[in-house]
Amino acid sequence: MRAIELPEVGAPLRATRREAPEPGPGEVRVRIDACGVCGSDVFLQKGGFGDKVPYPVIPGHEAAGVVDALGDAVDGLAAGDQVALYYITTPPGDPWAARGRPNISPAVTRMGVDVDGAFAEYVLRPPEALIKPPAPVPPAVLAVLTDAVATPLHGLKRVARLAAGETLVVLGVGGLGSNAVQLGKAFGARVIAVTRSEAKLRLARELGADETVAAQDGDPVAAVKGLTDGHGPDVVVQCVGSAAADEQAIAMGGPGGRVVLIGSSLDHFRARAVDILWRELAVLGSRGFVPDDIRDAIDLLLDGTLTVNHLVEGVRPLAEANEALEDLKAGRVFRSVLVP
Ligand SMILES: [Zn+2]
Repeated sequence: MRAIELPEVGAPLRATRREAPEPGPGEVRVRIDACGVCGSDVFLQKGGFGDKVPYPVIPGHEAAGVVDALGDAVDGLAAGDQVALYYITTPPGDPWAARGRPNISPAVTRMGVDVDGAFAEYVLRPPEALIKPPAPVPPAVLAVLTDAVATPLHGLKRVARLAAGETLVVLGVGGLGSNAVQLGKAFGARVIAVTRSEAKLRLARELGADETVAAQDGDPVAAVKGLTDGHGPDVVVQCVGSAAADEQAIAMGGPGGRVVLIGSSLDHFRARAVDILWRELAVLGSRGFVPDDIRDAIDLLLDGTLTVNHLVEGVRPLAEANEALEDLKAGRVFRSVLVP
């Protein structure tokens, strides 16, 4: 099969050929129809996932496809079924997975990081990592729902527990934040979007933001406080991979507020205990998503609550994986999607 691999940290991606994997007992071979390219792939290329990554590795964790072949002892799926792929698996009996939180298990195996991913024609997954949409969904759309939408959905619904009537600030309107804006509106919040580029401010308004703040024009913390009676919002979802933005998120959170960190940064940020405890601010991490977040994202798309048109403009053939990654790094697209 054709695939794209990352030979080592810092290297460009390269085309390769691998044996198509054969499904063993309890495994399903999925023919990949689309796989998103996301900031995590840039993070992988930079070496952000540490030294346990088995180079050369095939990236790709945001995928949709069709069931192609079934190993023994697989129930509930048939060849030809459309599926969204959940990128995490955990060992049998994993206690975090048993509590519905496989994303935070110390024993996670991540497709496209720890094992080969979906920048390829085929992958093997266990049936519990495959989600059948209740109605057909265009492949590129289904792919981006599994991460670009499911990640902010997890942060807002399961981590921040955003409630109707609350005020939400979204820092960064990129591949994740743009969907946080839409999801905030879907959950009944007042949404303030903060971002640098005029095009992204416009997109945030198109996606339903009630107010926007141009981050480059003065102090965004002061601007957000000005829009919230001087107090700050109930929830801040920080989608920028930047320590400066982490500090802004903590500075702007209102009394009793929740600050959810989603943007991955390896840099240290500074905070004082009194700034957090006087406001009883909760600073929360949100890591990826769980299968129910994908199911929720599919439902919100199918009922017309969400659009992902802005995420599927950069569809490229698999062979253009490097160009897709460069588009993303340069900010020319919100998301690239590779089609084998
Ligand atoms: Zn991702």
